[in-house]
Amino acid sequence: MKIGFIGLGNMGAPMAQNLARGGHSVTGYDTATISLQGVGSASSATEAVDGAEVVVTMLPNGDILRRVAAEIIPAMQKGAVFLDCSTVDVDSARAVAEMARDAGLLPLDAPVSGGVGGAQGGTLTFMVGGDEDGFEKAKPLFDIMGQKAVHCGASGNGQAAKICNNMILGITMIGTCEAFALADKLGLDRQAMFDVVSTSSGSSWSMNTYCPAPGVGPKSPADNDYKPGFAADLMLKDLRLSQAAAETADADTPLGAAAMALYAAFVEEEDGAGRDFSAMLPRFSGRGRGS
Ligand code: NAD
Repeated sequence: MKIGFIGLGNMGAPMAQNLARGGHSVTGYDTATISLQGVGSASSATEAVDGAEVVVTMLPNGDILRRVAAEIIPAMQKGAVFLDCSTVDVDSARAVAEMARDAGLLPLDAPVSGGVGGAQGGTLTFMVGGDEDGFEKAKPLFDIMGQKAVHCGASGNGQAAKICNNMILGITMIGTCEAFALADKLGLDRQAMFDVVSTSSGSSWSMNTYCPAPGVGPKSPADNDYKPGFAADLMLKDLRLSQAAAETADADTPLGAAAMALYAAFVEEEDGAGRDFSAMLPRFSGRGRGS
C-alpha cells in the first residue's frame, strides 16, 4: 500500500520503518527534520498524504492532531483510511473522525499500548474505534506494527479504551507502591511481599509484570534506576485525559482523580519528570504520613 506517515518521533519512527520493511511504500513527514532508512521524506504534511491509501498519524496531543487533520483531510484521496495512533482526548478523536467522514475518508482512532519497545519490535496492541470497513482495510498494517488489534466500536472508543486502561494502571501502580512502602515500615521483606501478593488477590500487572521494587519479580525499569519504560509524564497525560473524559461524561472517578493529583505533584513539583511511572515507590518510601 501507499502510506503517508505523520509524526516520526519515538513511537512513529519505528512504526513507519516496520511498515516499510513489511513491503509498503511509506512517505513520512515530521516538523522536526527526521530521515529514516527505507521511509521517503516529504517536505510537508500534504505532500506526505498525496495519493496515499492509508495515512497514519502519531502526534503528541489532540490540539496538534486537530491542526494536522484540518491541513491533510482536504488533500487526501477519497476512500483512504485516516489512522490516528496518537493518544488524544476522546472529543478530539470524535471531532477529527467526523471531519474525515464528511470528506469521504475512513477514520480510525487506534491508540496503542506497548511503548517504544513494542513499536520497535512490532508488538503493539491497538485499541480501535471506527467503522468495520476501515478496520478491515487497516488490518494488514496492524498485523505488521502490532500483535493484536481490538475493534472497540464507534469512533472515539479506541481512545476511551486506552484511557480507561491507563486509569486502572495508574491507580494500581500507586496502590502497589504505597503497599510496598507500608510493608517496608512494618518490617516485611520485599521478596516475601512479592511472593505473597503476586499469587494472591492483590496481584495486578503493576505487581506481577512491572514490579516497582528493584531486584524483585521480573526485570522492570525499577532494575534500571527507574529509567523509562513508561515515563511518569506520559502517565500524567493519560490520567488527565481520563479525568477530562470523566468530566464530559459525568462519571464519578475519585481514585482516577487522586491518581492524577499524585502524578501531577510527582512530575511537576517533585523529582518525577523523566523517570519511570513506577518511581512512585521511592517517592512513597521517603515519606511519612505528614509529608
Ligand atoms: P514524540 O514527542 O517522540 O513524537 C511526536 C512527534 O510528532 C515529534 O517527532 C514531533 O516533532 C512531531 N510533530 C509535532 N507536531 C507535528 C506536526 N504539526 N506535524 C508533524 N509532526 C509533528 O512522542 P511519542 O513518544 O512518539 O508519542 C506519540 C504519541 O504516542 C503520543 O500521543 C503518546 O501519548 C503516544 N504513546 C506514547 C508511548 C510511549 O511510550 N512513548 C506509548 C503509548 C502511546
